[in-house]
Amino acid sequence: MHLSTRSIHIGNEKDPLTGAVIPPLYLSSTFAPPGEFSEALYDYSRSGNPTRGGLETTIAALEEGVGALAYGSGMAAIHGALMLLKSGDHVVAGTDIYGGTYRILHKILNRVGIETTLVPLDDLEQVAAAIRPTTRMIWAENPGNPLLSLVDLATLADIAHQHGALLAVDNTFATPVATQPLKLGADIVMHSATKYLGGHSDLLGGALVVRDKALLKELYFIQNATGGVMAPLDCYLCARGIKTLEVRFREQCKSALWIAQFLENHPSVKKVYYPGLPSHPQHELAQKQLRGLYGGVVSFELKSDFQAAKRFVSSTQLFQRAVSMGAVESLIEQPASMSHASYDKADRLKAGIDDGLIRLSIGLEHVQDLIEDLQGAFQLTLEQDECAPSVNWNLEAGYFS
Ligand code: PLP
Repeated sequence: MHLSTRSIHIGNEKDPLTGAVIPPLYLSSTFAPPGEFSEALYDYSRSGNPTRGGLETTIAALEEGVGALAYGSGMAAIHGALMLLKSGDHVVAGTDIYGGTYRILHKILNRVGIETTLVPLDDLEQVAAAIRPTTRMIWAENPGNPLLSLVDLATLADIAHQHGALLAVDNTFATPVATQPLKLGADIVMHSATKYLGGHSDLLGGALVVRDKALLKELYFIQNATGGVMAPLDCYLCARGIKTLEVRFREQCKSALWIAQFLENHPSVKKVYYPGLPSHPQHELAQKQLRGLYGGVVSFELKSDFQAAKRFVSSTQLFQRAVSMGAVESLIEQPASMSHASYDKADRLKAGIDDGLIRLSIGLEHVQDLIEDLQGAFQLTLEQDECAPSVNWNLEAGYFS
């Protein structure tokens, strides 16, 4: 069964009592089951809830894992995975990672004696050199946020396993439409369901998916003990969003590639980060690992200074200045002061996340309107600037006039 069919039919079976095509939303926090209480399928919603269970079944089917767990946010899911570790353990993580992931690794886990080394994961020699006898987990984002770096996940999985470590992959940006990390050897796949899975900026959620039943059992034990589960209404909305995941994502990838090309050709742009561009250092890997679907996030730097970048993110009309991504509306942000503000500045700059970097999340508006919106921002922001001649992008022909 294809992914789009699974996203609609698996975990969304009709209600056996009424025949309702859409499964009901179970808001109940507690259950009074008939028969032996200890044998009940559901007793309390932290431990299990039918609406959450349906969503978990769908997400597991999308990533082709043995099971999934749904959490109250992406960060709660990351926390759930990191709770597998204990004092004295060591984590190797990418330098190009979400600010919140950096924060939990460096400012929470360090308190209990778990150390992290950040490494540019596309340099596998540096990865191997960073591994210690105590390394228990490698944490990678596919692709990285916000610089869209890529790592060969199959090779990274081999390196992790040679050293007895788990490979955990944050697959939020690629979605299972582009990459299924478990099939490449990863042990844990993580999603911020707030993004593409939900797809409409109206819920918070996270998920972990695994391919090993014992690991699922351990993660479930931690989740039930700590309680960071996804609320039933959010699960319901997420299940609804997932039904259109593939069509949304394919369309967003198409528009993102156009916009990346537009930006790369713009005389006021210094650098564009997008794995779909031949100029991306891992474009060849991206063609294979992302199945030619390079995602809906595009980052870029202007030739001008930080202040110009700041003006730029406040000058668009359709692109709204906000963190997050993966929804139907387009967003624009400056990682240094927004999504990655929790980095220590020195670490952020070392990771190549400069003050002037701008990140776009491409939604489902018509791409021509989005390009015109960006053109307007260039004109508003850089009108005094010699390096910003007026340019017109011809969408059909793909050139400037
Ligand atoms: N992982 C990535 C790649 C993200 O971009 C984010 C949030 O932006 C998260 C994890 C955290 O997810 P949440 O905001 O749902 O907690």
